[in-house]
Amino acid sequence: MLGKYAQTCPVHFGRGAVAALGGIVKDLGVSHVLVVSDPGVAATKGYARAVESLKSAGLAVTEFTKVAADPSDTLVNEGGALARSGKVDGIVAIGGGSPMDAAKGINVLIHNDGPVNAYLGNPFYKPGVPLVMVPTTSGTGSENTSVGVITDTAKSIKSAVICNATAAVIDPEMTLEVPPMVTANTGMDVLAQAAESLTSKAQNPMSTVLAADAVRRVVRWLPVAVADGANYRAREELAIASNFTGIAFNDALVHLGHAIAHTVGAKFHLTHGSLCALALPEVMKYAATAVPDRLRMVAEAAGVHLAEGDSDEVAGQKVAAAFRAIAKSIGIPSFAALGVDRKALVALASLVPSDACYAFVPREMTVSEIETILAAAYDNYQ
Ligand code: NAD
Repeated sequence: MLGKYAQTCPVHFGRGAVAALGGIVKDLGVSHVLVVSDPGVAATKGYARAVESLKSAGLAVTEFTKVAADPSDTLVNEGGALARSGKVDGIVAIGGGSPMDAAKGINVLIHNDGPVNAYLGNPFYKPGVPLVMVPTTSGTGSENTSVGVITDTAKSIKSAVICNATAAVIDPEMTLEVPPMVTANTGMDVLAQAAESLTSKAQNPMSTVLAADAVRRVVRWLPVAVADGANYRAREELAIASNFTGIAFNDALVHLGHAIAHTVGAKFHLTHGSLCALALPEVMKYAATAVPDRLRMVAEAAGVHLAEGDSDEVAGQKVAAAFRAIAKSIGIPSFAALGVDRKALVALASLVPSDACYAFVPREMTVSEIETILAAAYDNYQ
């Protein structure tokens, strides 16, 4: 087997870990930190605790809290200019994937002239400053991935800078205030990332262990966290699952489900996690035909009982049914409820292979197979 697995950055983990943030940043030789966040996160108690920790450690703090979802190149350019003019020597992201990815973009610009577009997909730049991630959602694993997703506004596409964090502080208490629907969507994204990385053609032994563990945790604890956001145990399990999944898909990547979610999202502008959730069951049925042993690993991790004589097809159907039931139980809406026209959805099939994630499908497909999958995703989840 040929493969590679990366070790991106150390993680400080646990309840109350954010109290140690200031010391961790200071130990990296930082004296003036740029905090990157968004308005929703900046209004939380967790954000206040994190900033307090930085200040208590004697660090000067400049706040940049205007990140919007799916951060744009213009926003990142503005943050980069602020970081340069403010002479900061460290960056801390406090937020979900959007602030963490914006912070990666800003770090790319701190010692390089903008715009950030020159560095999308380009790993050659003068390295930035220490970058510490404090995730506040359990959804992206961005703290441990090597990319920061940035929206290229001229081309209307999502692209990415290549950048690792220096350290991460994962305190599940930071996620206690995440609203139920954000919890549901980000949690289904984690489940899809984990299940797709388990069945991707780029999987490796480390990604397999981490992704299987993440599937186990999400299936057990996501419905609990959606029903009761204050349940610390559920939040902790999801924080671990999200981080493990980020490490797993940083190498193993994701495939058909994400290619579908990106394609459909670009056309209809719908929530990414919901689209992943809607594609996932049908993608598992396809995985059963392409990599049946790997699909059975997903089934085992998800606690789906397979009888001895179950064919690969039946195994795929059982995993699909289990994932549909979870999505339904936490309020993921159907394509119909989202206002998507069935014909328009199926018509997107020919665009799916153009998405970068498609490169990691475990078996090549025809457009007509993808049409069947899109139609089934519409029909089988009501
Ligand atoms: P997000 O960061 O866009 O946040 C979603 C919403 O949740 C925001 O309104 C935010 O204010 C709110 N929120 C976040 N934390 C909160 C908290 N603790 N309490 C209350 N509200 C809170 O969402 P996300 O799903 O974490 O990130 C999505 C982004 O991540 C996308 O741009 C996606 O492309 C990117 N992404 C990146 C990677 C990567 O490897 N870099 C991987 C997957 C996704």
